[in-house]
Amino acid sequence: MLKAGIIGLPNVGKSTLFNALVENAKAQAANFPFCTIEPNKGIVSVPDQRLQELGNLSCSQNIIPTKIEFVDIAGLVKGASKGEGLGNKFLSNIREVDAIVHVVRCFEDSDVIHVSGKVDPLDDIEIINLELNLADLSQLQKRRERIKKQVRTSKEAAKEDTLLEKIEEELEKGLSVRSISLNEEENLIIKQLGFLTAKPIIYATNLNENDLAEGNDFSSTVQSFASNENTECIKISAQVESELIELEPEDKKDYLIGLGVEEGGLSSLIRSTYKLLGLKTYFTTGEKETKAWTIKDGMTAPQAAGVIHTDFEKGFIRAQTISYQNLIDSGSIANAKTKGLLRSEGKEYIVNEGDVMEFLFNV
Ligand code: GDP
Repeated sequence: MLKAGIIGLPNVGKSTLFNALVENAKAQAANFPFCTIEPNKGIVSVPDQRLQELGNLSCSQNIIPTKIEFVDIAGLVKGASKGEGLGNKFLSNIREVDAIVHVVRCFEDSDVIHVSGKVDPLDDIEIINLELNLADLSQLQKRRERIKKQVRTSKEAAKEDTLLEKIEEELEKGLSVRSISLNEEENLIIKQLGFLTAKPIIYATNLNENDLAEGNDFSSTVQSFASNENTECIKISAQVESELIELEPEDKKDYLIGLGVEEGGLSSLIRSTYKLLGLKTYFTTGEKETKAWTIKDGMTAPQAAGVIHTDFEKGFIRAQTISYQNLIDSGSIANAKTKGLLRSEGKEYIVNEGDVMEFLFNV
């Protein structure tokens, strides 16, 4: 399962957001009680409107969304890359995640102390990004030191060193690895180094309830910063989310209408994270269950089948396939078949977002 790490300075609302994510997942999925694996790890369903419609079409007994793991990574303070605070532990926790959700405090509240004494989102972002940047620099320099002797004798090592030198120059300017344009081969070379600033990132601006609909000056500056970096930025209110959990569905709706928003931001955070991870969804549907499966962009039909079970991949013969929209428009598989919309796809087929599939395989 793919993992997203929630990071940010202390007191920006990370834990409040994390708890809301997990509690919400618990409330939504009664048949999935073990959402919190460890105190700071939780498994969260990816909300998808299409599942319910497919489930209705197939009269499914169960509807099973796909999931992402969120990790609340506390402990980042200025100097973490030098081992301050939880320092290295914090950084190695980030190394393990596939994507980063960077929570930025965009709310004023004199009862909640700010580590730097005032709310300044760009300053906060800079502190964190600098720590990640320094951690990458140190990782990179250690690697260059390690391969130093081989550079003269090995072509591979020389190639790696030249690439690392180029990246080092950019990191020294304060840039992230993410912002350097690298080709496929170069990306492969650096993959093993697990650079923190190479990971995809979303900025989540944490707002007070009254600012959730329109944002405020703080969140606007983060928004512009993110667009310049070509990264995503979303608005949330961790506090609103934690209050929503306590409410009945009808009251939830009224509360959100009162705030001028359709949803509190949690669903959009989950969806954006999913997108950020480069993930796609395909479905299987039948009377027993309708289920969403997660695949990576570019996966073939046998690989997608392998997500369900490795035997499905090994014995793959073909896949009955139809797009979600065609199936819904047809009203049933039988109608879709009559209309010639149900296709038989082979081993080379690259699965599309929203495909509904049934696999035929040898056991
Ligand atoms: P963390 O250190 O980043 O995990 O921050 P916490 O989630 O523990 O939040 C720190 C404090 O800020 C807590 O007292 C929260 O109740 C409060 N808090 C979190 N989000 C908001 C918000 O959107 N508005 C306000 N006013 N307070 C918040």
